[in-house]
Amino acid sequence: MNLSESSDELQFRETVRQFLQQHLPAAIRDDVLAFKHLAKEQYVTWQRILAAQGWGAPGWPRDYGGPGWSAVQRSIFEDECYKAGAPRQMPFGLSMIGAVLMKFGTPAQRARFLPRIITMDDWWCQGYSEPGAGSDLASLKTNARRDGDDYVINGTKTWISNGIEGSCFALLVKTNPEAQPRYSGMSLFIAPKGPGFRVGRKLEKLGYKSIDSAELIFEDYRVPADHLIGEVEGRGFTQVAGGLELGRINVAARGVGIAEGALRLATSYSQLRKTFGKPICEHQAIQLKLADMATRARAARLLTLDAADAFDRGERCDLEAGMAKYFSSEAALENSIESMRIHGAYGYSKEYDIERLYRDAPLTCIGEGTNEMQRIVIARQWVKRNAIL
Ligand SMILES: Cc1cc2nc3c(=O)[nH]c(=O)nc-3n(C[C@H](O)[C@H](O)[C@H](O)COP(=O)(O)OP(=O)(O)OC[C@H]3O[C@@H](n4cnc5c(N)ncnc54)[C@H](O)[C@@H]3O)c2cc1C
Repeated sequence: MNLSESSDELQFRETVRQFLQQHLPAAIRDDVLAFKHLAKEQYVTWQRILAAQGWGAPGWPRDYGGPGWSAVQRSIFEDECYKAGAPRQMPFGLSMIGAVLMKFGTPAQRARFLPRIITMDDWWCQGYSEPGAGSDLASLKTNARRDGDDYVINGTKTWISNGIEGSCFALLVKTNPEAQPRYSGMSLFIAPKGPGFRVGRKLEKLGYKSIDSAELIFEDYRVPADHLIGEVEGRGFTQVAGGLELGRINVAARGVGIAEGALRLATSYSQLRKTFGKPICEHQAIQLKLADMATRARAARLLTLDAADAFDRGERCDLEAGMAKYFSSEAALENSIESMRIHGAYGYSKEYDIERLYRDAPLTCIGEGTNEMQRIVIARQWVKRNAIL
């Protein structure tokens, strides 16, 4: 187990930090930090800058035009992007969907769709959740019926990130609603926007505002049969679940970014703000908060490194990824509220960055599987690995 970043990884972190400082356009950074919705052109601009550096799809191997980074490097990149105010979901969202296509797509699907992801000729999104199905994806109702050379899709998806700006969706549906177990009747389609596919409504939310979230409606939407990923029905759930370990490490890294960011803000503010004749960092009550925050941030970073390291060694790491995601996202939530309290009234102001972290943190506890579900995964794996019978 790698208990801290190696000198190469520390150097890599510095390279990423300097790149973001020099190349992240100020307008994009300012909009992200101010919680403004980014226009598609801003995302395309940023994606082109990353692609020119060879970082357009961080999760991809070199053969497909990616940088060939390890999971440890990817989590360092995600954490630093978060701290720098770079747009989230990009480029990692694209990376994750690309990974599904690389692993499960047919050669023709890979050749046709992968290059368009990096160039952003297609803007891909993940269309899994529904009004009645989030944690329990196998209960989803959107269905696809074969009709000649097409499938005809009907149903509603919700909470889809970039649903309004996005152009192409990895769409999880039922192709056999009667199948048992339920997950075996699910399939994943490549679904470009077109007739029968419309945006229902935009969803307003607490944080994560640079990206739109939308409800999507499918009414007799036709998609050619060769858009079924892998061209075999019934594999959709496995295909989606195949990206979960990496997805969770990715969210854990974002949690580290928030937990460390909140700590950094509290550390400097508490040295500048004085009450009763001394900086507040000299009051014991504030010291206890700083100690807890620093410990949580450090533990979150180490758990995330541990999970990424296990992933890089090619080991099964659902336990490690679940622990990292669970702990780091809770650390993000706790550190952001403690930092806000240390800032007093100023923490409640939109003029201070801590307010943004406070509003972004809760999503890390929900995305890529809620933390309640993480704990179930952790417990199951823990008992399995320590079985005595
Ligand atoms: C900003 C945002 C962006 C999103 N982006 C996307 C996206 O791009 N694509 C997409 O497909 N989805 C997206 N989602 C949806 C997200 O994946 C779901 O919200 C998440 O999976 C939880 O599902 P749910 O909201 O239906 O909660 P539910 O599954 O209804 O859960 C409600 C509560 O019950 C708990 N719970 C559920 N089952 C159990 C159980 N067995 N045991 C114990 N507790 C349980 C949960 O932990 C939670 O606390 C997004 C959501 C948000 C808020």
